[in-house]
Amino acid sequence: MEVGGKAMTPIGGVEAAVYTVPTDRPEADGTLDWDRTTMVLVHTVAGGQRGIGWTYGPAACASVVVGELAPVVCGMDVFDIPAALAAMVRRIRNAGRTGVAGYAVSAVETSLWDLKARLLGLPLCSLLGQARPELPVYGSGGFTSYSDEVLQEQLIGWKDLPRVKIKIGRGRDLDRVRLARATLGPGTELFVDANGAYSAKEAIRIAHAMDDQDVRWFEEPVSSDDPDGLRQVRDAIRADVAAGEYGCDLTAFARLTGAVDCLQIDVTRCGGVLEWQRAAALAAAAGLQVSAHCAPGLHRHVALSVPNVRHAEWFHDHVRIESMFFDGFPEPVNGAVSPDLSRPGMGLELRGSDSERYRVK
Ligand SMILES: [Mg+2]
Repeated sequence: MEVGGKAMTPIGGVEAAVYTVPTDRPEADGTLDWDRTTMVLVHTVAGGQRGIGWTYGPAACASVVVGELAPVVCGMDVFDIPAALAAMVRRIRNAGRTGVAGYAVSAVETSLWDLKARLLGLPLCSLLGQARPELPVYGSGGFTSYSDEVLQEQLIGWKDLPRVKIKIGRGRDLDRVRLARATLGPGTELFVDANGAYSAKEAIRIAHAMDDQDVRWFEEPVSSDDPDGLRQVRDAIRADVAAGEYGCDLTAFARLTGAVDCLQIDVTRCGGVLEWQRAAALAAAAGLQVSAHCAPGLHRHVALSVPNVRHAEWFHDHVRIESMFFDGFPEPVNGAVSPDLSRPGMGLELRGSDSERYRVK
């Protein structure tokens, strides 16, 4: 199609589906308990191809996709994703960028990148350009709801990963960290995540008490809404302090860059692929590396497009869902994943036979 002398490929459709998958065991962190995970999957259509993207959020994200975002992006050129993103962000101004509406924007934007790459017959990492060949990952789970035996079993299952993270913040922190260190041995990097369970002073005391266990990463020792507290902890402890997983726009990331050692960015929340790259650039300007938060299937390509990525989270919950739902989901090799350059887009195909029984909408 040609509009005003410019060839264009209009976005012809935007659909959303909701899947709720029970966890394999009850899961909890320092501040939340859950027994199921909801994925809102978006399909966008243009030029005879379909792109996919998703977010992990309430089913209400699907209503925003269909009711608010689809009318805005349908008819726009699939090759002009910055324009589509800007239009979606404008549309949700009154709904609020943080939370459900921002997560919905992220899923649509990401699916447009998958779609654009498929239309060009390229893997997404080639369309974006690779800054590095592979993405180091860290095992993530170690829920506070696990018994010691289950925690050990999970850690042993990650024996090929050189770094792992457990949740803390519900008591027995030191016992569980010591158990993890004893199970892993000295060669594996050990990370902890309190999900904002502590005050700054509590977090500093706990970090000092964990020092002899060589904990390298203390994620959200205090709430991400408290950059001053994060900075106070960062300046007082040996482990790197990380936060950023709830960031829905660049101002949220800008508030954190002076308060952390490594900025976490989640493509399913931050606004999608473009905002992920922009947040990584903000981090680079502050001399920081970034880490991809959760949704490993979606970060495999975008995270390789920036030079300052440290690693990506191999989150038990999401690995379980994405490996069940998608053909083409990767397995880490030597602690890292690489894109499959023989597959276009993000290289993932939904397996309807395995996903449909979890579909709720
Ligand atoms: Mg976290």
